[in-house]
Order: sequence, then structure tokens, then C-alpha cells
Amino acid sequence: MSRGYNFSAGPSTLPESVLRRAQEEMLEWGGERASVLEVSHRGKAFVALNDKLEADLRRLLEVPADYTVLFLQGGATQHFAQIPMNLAGPDDSADYLISGHWATKAHAEARTLVKTNVVATGEAGKFTSIPEHSQWKLTPGAAYLHVTPNETIQGVEFAGVPEVGDVPVVADMSSNILSRPVDVSRYGLIYAGAQKNMGAAGLTLLVIRNDLLARKRRPLPNIFTYAAHAKEKSLLNTPPTFAFYITALVLEWIDAQGGLAAMEKLNRAKADMLYAAIDGSNGYYANPVDARYRSRMNVPFTLHDAALDEAFLVESKAAGLLTLKGHKAVGGMRASIYNAMPIAGVQALVGFMGDFAKRHG
Ligand SMILES: *Cc1c(COP(=O)(O)O)cnc(C)c1O
Repeated sequence: MSRGYNFSAGPSTLPESVLRRAQEEMLEWGGERASVLEVSHRGKAFVALNDKLEADLRRLLEVPADYTVLFLQGGATQHFAQIPMNLAGPDDSADYLISGHWATKAHAEARTLVKTNVVATGEAGKFTSIPEHSQWKLTPGAAYLHVTPNETIQGVEFAGVPEVGDVPVVADMSSNILSRPVDVSRYGLIYAGAQKNMGAAGLTLLVIRNDLLARKRRPLPNIFTYAAHAKEKSLLNTPPTFAFYITALVLEWIDAQGGLAAMEKLNRAKADMLYAAIDGSNGYYANPVDARYRSRMNVPFTLHDAALDEAFLVESKAAGLLTLKGHKAVGGMRASIYNAMPIAGVQALVGFMGDFAKRHG
């Protein structure tokens, strides 16, 4: 058996060169004569890795000087709760744009901690589009506005930030972080689990503007306080050291590819190729998403006859195209084509899709 192309939504495919490097260094890392898995997070070597991880992330994402970069735990899901804890008091209100599965989850967690207002929801259209900005009902003086720029399950994505005055925009970029350049200064807080587009499970990135870091709206234990983690440069307690290491290697890989501009170009080319195959299939395959908001990262698609789904999954797997089953909320298939998916993987998928349609006409 050989390594296949992995279209998993997360944890997801990593650059092969990163995996090889980790394999080579598994027993002895740097000059440590021990594995990265075995050394103290307080030791010189790991502290240097942590510093480099932060410096590389800042450079790649062009993070302005008045923002703090944190590498935390708990996944995006923990921060669904921790963000309202840190940015809002119990009597404050926070705005949420409900664009799909993950925005719904983020909102549900926040409701236990803060008054929330849904500015708009795409639920009536089964989250196949993003509600028009002119229809959003923003709350003046809201503690923040939460958005989900890429909905991993429904496959809807929007670029840029709406004009919302002084209200800080909080963005869950778990599934499209580092996929293209972003104007960080338009956001108050960006967060992302690492396991989709930037590294290994266990690490959660947070980029937070310093005035928000200083907000104190309720008493909180230290471990949940972002400012406390910032004071210790993300090393308040033992971090997921191996996830730090893998993520540092992925950032080096992105750099070597040409940074986020190169990632954007590659991701655009892969997504265009796949959507063209779907749209050009005479209805054999379909993607329901409003063309303006089709995700470049997660591409859900259905077959014209759901009775063929099982055969599609069995045959694609045999062809080395892995994990194409769609999320149960949407059905059909889903191809996640994050940064580390090479163009050859999408070519192989498109070739298989055409071939499958011919054989099962
Ligand atoms: C995967 C995902 C999450 C959940 O991430 P966990 O690390 O499992 O908590 C949240 N938001 C988005 C957009 C995701 O894609």
C-alpha cells in the first residue's frame, strides 16, 4: 500500500516533506540527543522553537505590532467559550453572524456567557450562501462581532471584513487560516485550530489586538485568561510540544513555497479545477453553494443519484483518494483541499470523477 491523497476535513493532509523531516528527527532533535517529544518546554531548544514559531507566523500573516500571537490548547471549540469570557461581561451583548455549522456552535457556547444577537442567518437557505451585508442587524456598542469566514461543513467562504465601525471583529479561521494574505488590522481577534491548514491537532492559534487582550469584563481563573497566557509567551503550562514542532515545520514549508501569496494562487487553481469539473459534468455532480461564496478549502458535492455514493467512496478509496465522504449534515461527498493538498491530488480526483461518471453513466 502507498500513501494516498487525503481529502479529510481535519485533521488533514500535511506536506509530505514535513512528515519526512519529523520522521528523520524523531529520535534526535536539533542538538538535544533526544526527541522533541522528550525535552522540557522550559529548555533552551524548545523556547527557541516557540520564539521561531511566533516570529514565522507574524511574518507570514503580516501581524501588526500591536497584536499578540498566542499558541493555546482546547481547539476552536474551547475558544467559542473562552472568547466571550475574555471579551465580554455577563451584561454585555455580542453579535454573531450565523453562516453554518461552526458559527451555530460558536453562538450556542457564547449564549451561556453573554447576551447574544444574531445579526443574520443563512439557515433558511440551508447555509448555501452568506446573508447580504445590507441585511445584517448589527448592535451598536456590541462587545464584538463574531464571524466564520469559512464554513468547513457547508463549504461557504467569504473574504474580507464588513464595515462595522468600532465593534471588533472576531473571526474563526480554523479552516482557511494561512490560505491567502489577510489584512489582520481589520480584525480584533483571529483564531484557528491548527489541524486543518497549519499543523497538528492540539494547538490553537490566537491573534489578538492588545487593547482586547487588556479587557477585563468578569473574574476569570488564570488558565482561561488570554492576558495570563500572553505574559508567559504561550508557555503558562506545558503546551502540546509536538504540535508546536509540526506547526513550525509547516510554516517553514509555506515560506519555502513563497508564502501566503503563493498559497492563494495554488488554492485558487485547485478550487477552480474542482468546481469546473463539477459544473461541467452535465448534472452528474453538483455543488449547491452560491457561486460568490464557494469555499476554496472545502468542496461539498453530490452525485445525481445518491444510490451511487457507496460505489463512489469504495472506488475512490481504492484509487488512493481518501476520506471523501461528506458530513452527515450535508450528505454526498466533500473534498477538503487545504494548503498541503498538491495540485496533482486534485487532478487525480477530477480524473477519477470523470472516469466514474463514464463507468456508472
Ligand atoms: C474544525 C472547526 C472547528 C472545531 O475545531 P476543534 O479544534 O475540533 O475544536 C471550529 N470552527 C471551524 C471553522 C472548524 O473548521
